[in-house]
Amino acid sequence: MDLLNYDPNNVFARILRGALPCKQVYEDDFVLAFEDLKPKARVHVLVIPKGNYISSFDFYHSAPDDMLVGFHRGLASVIQSLDLKNPGYRLITNHGPDSGQEVPHFHVHILSDLFEKTFP
Ligand code: AMP
Repeated sequence: MDLLNYDPNNVFARILRGALPCKQVYEDDFVLAFEDLKPKARVHVLVIPKGNYISSFDFYHSAPDDMLVGFHRGLASVIQSLDLKNPGYRLITNHGPDSGQEVPHFHVHILSDLFEKTFP
């Protein structure tokens, strides 16, 4: 995985362009949220920014302030729209091969109603 150069043909870039379908659950000016293709929990949604960021480090290091705020407000809106404040949810984001990151476009996993209650 190239952690320095954004690949404009990665799967999530194609979803953002409308070139690939997704099961959308939320969209605003800053984020798109859709169901994970291979869910690891009964609720498994991915939230991605509308911008070319490879990973969490790239996003937190280089995104402008309006995007940083807009992304997190969007994330909260997804959580609210899915009604997850109670019972609760887990957020996960991966950076690089050592974390198991598969798609080189920054994304946050929202997981709720887990198949197995393991930690982390
Ligand atoms: P990560 O390992 O953090 O990069 O997670 C990538 C996630 O993207 C995995 O959970 C995949 O199941 C999911 N995924 C891959 N392709 C698609 C797709 N076309 N639509 C929805 N989710 C996808």
